[in-house]
Amino acid sequence: MAVFCYRCGTALPVSARFCSNCGTVVSVTPPIAGRPLVRPHVGRQIAGVCLGLAQANAWDVALVRVLTVVGFFFSGGLVAVAYLAGWIGIPEEPYPMPGAYPPNV
Ligand SMILES: [Zn+2]
Repeated sequence: MAVFCYRCGTALPVSARFCSNCGTVVSVTPPIAGRPLVRPHVGRQIAGVCLGLAQANAWDVALVRVLTVVGFFFSGGLVAVAYLAGWIGIPEEPYPMPGAYPPNV
């Protein structure tokens, strides 16, 4: 898979950090969290909805939790309904098989 300079469109090798044509820094896009939307078992507080959302979207879990608690009181129950919907609709993270490697990923 080739990487293209977003400024001049020159095809670059994947390992390129600068465009060989115009010198633009080729930004390396950090891998997005990439975790599926699941409710993890480890680290959850109630149902793991906030933790699952935070991990799936690479958000700060503390921020998600604070906004959720604030939303409980100031959204007229909308966040509460959304949390329950997530509790029901978001699948639980499957338990790792014994002997799976690496553990706890
Ligand atoms: Zn370029």
